[in-house]
Amino acid sequence: MPKYIFVTGGVVSSLGKGVACAAIGNLLEARGLKVAIVKCDPYINVDPGTMNPYQHGEVYVTDDGAETDLDLGHYERFTSMRASRLNNITTGKIYYSIITKERKGDYLGATVQVIPHVTDEIKFWIKQVGKGRRLDVIIVEIGGTVGDIESLPFLEAIRQMRLEMGHHNAVNIHLTLVPFIKAAGEVKTKPTQHSVGKLREIGIQPDILLCRTEKRFSASIVKKIALFCNVEEDAVIQAIDVNDIYEIPLVFEDQGLDKIILDKLRLPAKAADLKHWKTNVVLKRRNADKEVSIAVVGKYIELQDAYKSIYEALVHGGIANDARVNILKIDSEELLSDGGYRKLSSADGILVPGGFGKRGFEGKVEAIRYARENELPFLGICLGMQAAVVEFARNVAGMKGANSTEFEPETKYPVISLLEEQKGIKELGGTMRLGAYPCKIKKGSLAHKVYKKDEIRERHRHRYEFNNKYREKLISSGLVISGIYPDKDLVEIIEIEGHPYFIAVQFHPEFKSKPDNAHPLFKGLIRATLKARK
Ligand code: GLN
Repeated sequence: MPKYIFVTGGVVSSLGKGVACAAIGNLLEARGLKVAIVKCDPYINVDPGTMNPYQHGEVYVTDDGAETDLDLGHYERFTSMRASRLNNITTGKIYYSIITKERKGDYLGATVQVIPHVTDEIKFWIKQVGKGRRLDVIIVEIGGTVGDIESLPFLEAIRQMRLEMGHHNAVNIHLTLVPFIKAAGEVKTKPTQHSVGKLREIGIQPDILLCRTEKRFSASIVKKIALFCNVEEDAVIQAIDVNDIYEIPLVFEDQGLDKIILDKLRLPAKAADLKHWKTNVVLKRRNADKEVSIAVVGKYIELQDAYKSIYEALVHGGIANDARVNILKIDSEELLSDGGYRKLSSADGILVPGGFGKRGFEGKVEAIRYARENELPFLGICLGMQAAVVEFARNVAGMKGANSTEFEPETKYPVISLLEEQKGIKELGGTMRLGAYPCKIKKGSLAHKVYKKDEIRERHRHRYEFNNKYREKLISSGLVISGIYPDKDLVEIIEIEGHPYFIAVQFHPEFKSKPDNAHPLFKGLIRATLKARK
C-alpha cells in the first residue's frame, strides 16, 4: 500500500503549491521512490475544458485526453510520472459520479450526504491513482486555500484517510506565507498561525510547514512558528523565493525536507541523488552564455498562466542550447498597431500558440507573414498552425480571403474546417480531438530532422482540421506536409521549404517538454534562432 502526503495551502492562493508538490515528487524520486501526484480541484466544473483561460489559465492535456489543471504540467515536468485523467479530481467529477449512481438507485434508499457519500467518493478516487501500480508515495494536492467553503469535503476526506490508514502512513504538509512587512522591517507569523488554527479546527494538524518567504528568516522566528503551530522546529521549512523554479528540489533537500517526510512515514530510502538535475537543469540554465528573444504572439498575453507549458518549453529549449530565452509577450490584437510591430521586429524568432475564438486571429496571421517573409524562425502550435495555413493560402497560394470556418463559416476558401463527421455535434464539452495520436513523419523533412523519428505521438486539443480539399493546391504552391495522422489521413505538421525554420503543428508539443529533455521542436526553434542571429 502506498503512503500518502497531503498538501494543503493557507493564507493566500498562488503560493506555488503545485510546484511545491512537483518538487517534493522530484526529491522523492531522487531517493529512488516511485511517486504519483494527484490534484484535487474544489470547483464544480467537471474539468477545466470549458473554462476561459482568464478564469483558469492553461488547460493541460494528458495522453489519455483528459483536460486538466495546469499543475499536472508541473508534476510531469519535475517527475517521471505520466499523468492521466485519474490525476485530477474535481468537485464536479465527484458530484457527477454520485448523482449518476443516485439516479440509478445505487444508494438503496439512503439520504445522500456530504459525509459519508461525498467524502467516500473522494477517498475512492484518490486511492484509484495507486490502483494496480507499485507506488511508494502518492502526493495529494488540495486546491484552494484553507478556509474556503468548497474545499471542506476534500479536507474532511484526507482527515478520514489518515485516521483509517494509521498515522505513520500519511503526512500533512501545509504551505503558508510568512510575509515581510517593510514598514515594520520584520516578518510576520500571524497569518500562518491563523491558517494552521483553521486547519486544526477541522481536525488536521500539519506535520510540516512550508513557509513561503522573500528572505530567509531567523531561528527565533522558526521557534515561534513551531511553538504556535504545534510542529517540530526542523519541520518548519523556509521556501524562499527563487529565480528558477527548478532549483526548488535543491532548496528543499538542503533543509532536509525529504528526510523529515520519510522519517514520519517510516519509509526507508537511499540518499537523494540530485546530481543529474543539478548539472543538467539548474547549473546548465544558470551558466547559459547565449541569449535569444522569442516573441510569443497570443491573445492571453497579460496572463501569466495561460501559456504556462509553452513558456516552460521555451526555457527547456534554451537550456538544451545553453541559451537564456527572453520571452517577448505580444498581444496579437495589438500587433496590427505600430507598437506591436516594433516589438516583433526586436524578436529573433516567433511562436504562435493555440487558442479559440476570432479575437486576435488576424494579428497571428500577420505575425506569421512577418516570420515567413523575413525568414525568422517560426513555430506554430495548434491554432498557430491553422493560422499558418490560412496565411500561406492567402498570401502565397493566391486564395484571397481564405480562412478557418471557425471564424468565417461562409469563407470562399475554407482551408481549415470541421470534418464531415463532426458537423452534427452541438455540445461544447468533450467534442474535441483530445489526447495522444500517432503521427507519421516524412523522411527528409525538417520535422524528421528535429525529431529523428519516423513516427511520433503527440497530444491534441482542437476541433478544426486542415481541409484536405486544398492539400494539392497548397503543396503545389510550396507548402510541405511533413506529418500525417495515418488512420484518418489528417495533416498534423506543415513546413515551408527553403525557410531556415518554419514549422507548424496541429498538436501541442509543449505538454511533453522537460527541463532535462527539451522537446525537439522547441530545441530546434532555439537552435535555428541562434544560428539565424549569427
Ligand atoms: N480553435 C482551434 C480548433 O478548435 C484551435 C484549438 C487550439 O489551438 N487548441 O481547432
